[in-house]
Amino acid sequence: MTALLGPAEIRGLAAELDVRPTKKLGQNFVHDPNTVRRIVDLSGVGEGDHVLEVGPGLGSLTLGLLDSGAQVTAVEIDPVLGERLPATVTERAPEAAARFTVHIQDALKLQRADLAREPTHLVANLPYNVAVPVVLHLLAELPSLAHGLVMVQTEVADRMAASPGSRIYGVPSVKLAWYGPARKVAPVPRAVFWPVPNVDSALVGFERAAEPVSDADRDEVFAVVDAAFAQRRKTLRAALSSWAGSGEKAEAILRAAGVDPRARGEQLGVRDFAKIAKSKSLPPF
Ligand code: SAM
Repeated sequence: MTALLGPAEIRGLAAELDVRPTKKLGQNFVHDPNTVRRIVDLSGVGEGDHVLEVGPGLGSLTLGLLDSGAQVTAVEIDPVLGERLPATVTERAPEAAARFTVHIQDALKLQRADLAREPTHLVANLPYNVAVPVVLHLLAELPSLAHGLVMVQTEVADRMAASPGSRIYGVPSVKLAWYGPARKVAPVPRAVFWPVPNVDSALVGFERAAEPVSDADRDEVFAVVDAAFAQRRKTLRAALSSWAGSGEKAEAILRAAGVDPRARGEQLGVRDFAKIAKSKSLPPF
């Protein structure tokens, strides 16, 4: 079993690299091996799986993932951190070095063609300020990603896993639901990080559904979702009037989709949004 990075190792690596963790890049490093083991267990990854890890940082989670026997491709934006990772893996888990690759780049710009093999799992302690855009970008860009377990700020976890009708249900909830179900898996206390963030975290799990929600165009569906939640207190008739061209058109499109024009976006499930987008693409609209 690989010896994972504890507080002394994290501080030692940070000192060696002269790393001053930045808030801008969400740099809070896990220095608790038990937390890493728990994340790896909950992710269910093992031999034969190919894990994409966004933001490996100093390598805490990376070493745990490699210890499961999985292949790991990491994407780190900070070159100082990314360039040290192969040596950390070789020092602590030499037998796993051949299963590890790191790309030094922005995960928001990662493309399918950048990767030699298609990842099956996304497992990451995500940088907080770009957590939702990163997950949505990767699900869109990498169809092979079938399972995910990510650590995000608790409030973001709640929004990602929210159901229609709840106060926190919104754009991240619907867009994630387009790909499949998401659920909040477990809380993670702030004390497991260095430096200690001023928010708590939680793990969110998601699965890509075997069948797409609808054959509607995804970008069209997402445009309806953005419009509906940009003015979430308004009725859908009012909120979708610019998107449709006028209030009358919005009402007709909603009625054709079987959706009450007086309803609000927070009451609709992803299938309803898909029906609205689809209805606009059909005659007479
Ligand atoms: N996985 C490590 C751990 O658990 O200790 C570090 C997690 S830390 C919360 C987030 C990491 O994401 C940092 O290493 C940061 O440099 C990196 N990062 C921030 N923005 C990124 C982006 N757009 N693409 C890739 N990596 C990013």
